[in-house]
Amino acid sequence: MNKSIAIDGPSGAGKSSVAVEAARRLGGHYLDTGAMYRAMGLYMLEQGANLEDTAQMDALSENANVDVKYDADGNQLTFLNGEDVTDRLRTPEVSMAASAVSKGAAVRQKLVRRQKELANEMFLVCDGRDIGTCVITDAALKVYLNATPEERARRRFNEMEDKSMGFEAVLKDINLRDYNDTHRAISPLRKAEDAVEIDTTHLSLEQVVGEVMRLYLERVQ
Ligand code: C5P
Repeated sequence: MNKSIAIDGPSGAGKSSVAVEAARRLGGHYLDTGAMYRAMGLYMLEQGANLEDTAQMDALSENANVDVKYDADGNQLTFLNGEDVTDRLRTPEVSMAASAVSKGAAVRQKLVRRQKELANEMFLVCDGRDIGTCVITDAALKVYLNATPEERARRRFNEMEDKSMGFEAVLKDINLRDYNDTHRAISPLRKAEDAVEIDTTHLSLEQVVGEVMRLYLERVQ
């Protein structure tokens, strides 16, 4: 059994906030796999790739090396071909490119291979879409976080500094990404059979973290 924690779920379900805090309390590293797909998406935008052409993006990904490192405070830095791109990954364009690029078999294989290596090297609280089903299938705890699309869009909207996009557009973006993530042929987003599902719609961050900690300690003790 791998001691790590796998957290999956749709966009905006609270995965990263919960994972960061659980990693801090348990002394582990938080691995944000979405950032790795975002870096790959950024590469495709830079190359002028056709985001509807999965085969083309799979071929281009041969020359894209995505990796993560941790700074002295334990924060993840994401690198694309040796360059720190951490601050360039949170735009709507990169979100859409990440969603498109993540359909590719070669892209997924490449990123999953690196994620598995990291899970073997250190204790991770890892979040994504396929962590419990593909990346750390023997995780000590698998959690599937969910919330209604409206609540997830509301959280995303509240986090945004620039609100010019409007709430309805954020909701539309969430619904489109949900559709893409659950309908892709390879490793679609789904709850692992042995994952515990937590609906976070009416829960505070502290309540969800508390529940994850309880479930984890119950399993590893
Ligand atoms: O989690 P985040 O929103 O940053 O992920 C960006 C995109 O990367 C997601 O919409 C999803 O398509 C893809 N992704 C994935 N598998 C993961 C993590 C993210 O396909 N493990």
